[in-house]
Amino acid sequence: MNEFQYRLGELCCEDVPLRKLAVEFGTPLYVYSESHIVGQYQALDKAFRGLDHMICYAMKANSTLAVLRSLARVGAGFDIVSGGELYRVKQAGGDAAKCVFSSVGKTREEIEYALREGIYCFNVESEAELQFLSDVAYRMGRRAPVAVRVNPHVDPDTHHYISTGKEESKFGISIERALKVYREATRLRGVEIRGVQMHIGSQITKTGPYVLAIKKMLPLVEKVQTLAPQTLRSFDIGGGVGIRYKDQTPPTAQQFAAAVKPLLKQASKRGLRILMEPGRFIVGNGGVLVTRVLYVKQTPVKRFVIIDGAMNDLIRPALYESYHEIQPVKAGKRTKAKVDVVGPVCESGDFFAQGRTLPVVEAGEYLAVMSAGAYGFAMASNYNSRGRPAEVLVKGRKYQLVRRRETRQDLVRGELLP
Ligand SMILES: *Cc1c(COP(=O)(O)O)cnc(C)c1O
Repeated sequence: MNEFQYRLGELCCEDVPLRKLAVEFGTPLYVYSESHIVGQYQALDKAFRGLDHMICYAMKANSTLAVLRSLARVGAGFDIVSGGELYRVKQAGGDAAKCVFSSVGKTREEIEYALREGIYCFNVESEAELQFLSDVAYRMGRRAPVAVRVNPHVDPDTHHYISTGKEESKFGISIERALKVYREATRLRGVEIRGVQMHIGSQITKTGPYVLAIKKMLPLVEKVQTLAPQTLRSFDIGGGVGIRYKDQTPPTAQQFAAAVKPLLKQASKRGLRILMEPGRFIVGNGGVLVTRVLYVKQTPVKRFVIIDGAMNDLIRPALYESYHEIQPVKAGKRTKAKVDVVGPVCESGDFFAQGRTLPVVEAGEYLAVMSAGAYGFAMASNYNSRGRPAEVLVKGRKYQLVRRRETRQDLVRGELLP
């Protein structure tokens, strides 16, 4: 996390001390580095130069308008999973024509909205959806551009909650049946074949699974092109490139591109544009959650550091058993102790670290939970009637509050007493 370094004894985001932001905006507080986020996008974009490509940022990882705006400005497209996300793209100044729509459960209302806005492609996940999409589009007097999300049955070697390309997954259509579904699509009046898509999982730290999956997909891509030579325009390799949380060594943008580009050149030569849908890779190490230590509680068997951030703010440890580095905002040599770092929520799953050896901290000081830019705020909830945190976007020496902390009034907005 190059944009989060100690300077003069203080952990900073770019040129801004996190302590300064915590004092000004309160905690828990999400802080993002715009340079990191835009830098990751641009590194990937540059690595794929020479190949016609489009990067559709998987915005479910972090859909804060300011983040979307930063990416839209440098030309990003978006991978959306709901009508709500398309609305966010529009609000942030993004281009619907650069959006692909993934989801196993698109509703009529969402399909109509996406058709009106003119998205690039619907990534279709079942035959039932293909049929429904065709009917809805036909009634609107349109043809919906579609890609079948093909499941290539590759084990991405990641946590089972975020593995999606295996046979038993709810996502996509099996590679053995995909061609049949494409044939069916050629007979439907409301769709046109735009692409072929795959997505094998998330937090993938090796290039091998991509190489394997793409190799399996290329013959299918050729066959689909024969079926729909006029309309087929893209091959979408999905997202899922991992980041470093602890000691992983995920590929850099360059390494990822070097592994897959030679294979993708085949598709590119056939006039197809390569699409990809990175989420975590773009934003994961571009954000931290700054929290304040409320109490240190020593029990006969354990030492708990109780912070003001909780699982409602960042659910990844509870949901995926995921590891996040925790760093004191104030640097300095200190003794270490084995602790559990926990939040105030009434769940045993409300922890950020268990049995972790950390520098000894005191009540009142700030801790940064690292690598929290992806699936952090986006998964935040109001559980325990806690307002969701504020968010700040930093660029160099400048910073801006991009989301106000939720108030008590926000918590009951929309509720009606009978
Ligand atoms: C979640 C998802 C992504 C992004 O995954 P990351 O691991 O954040 O890169 C991309 N495409 C699809 C279809 C997804 O469901």
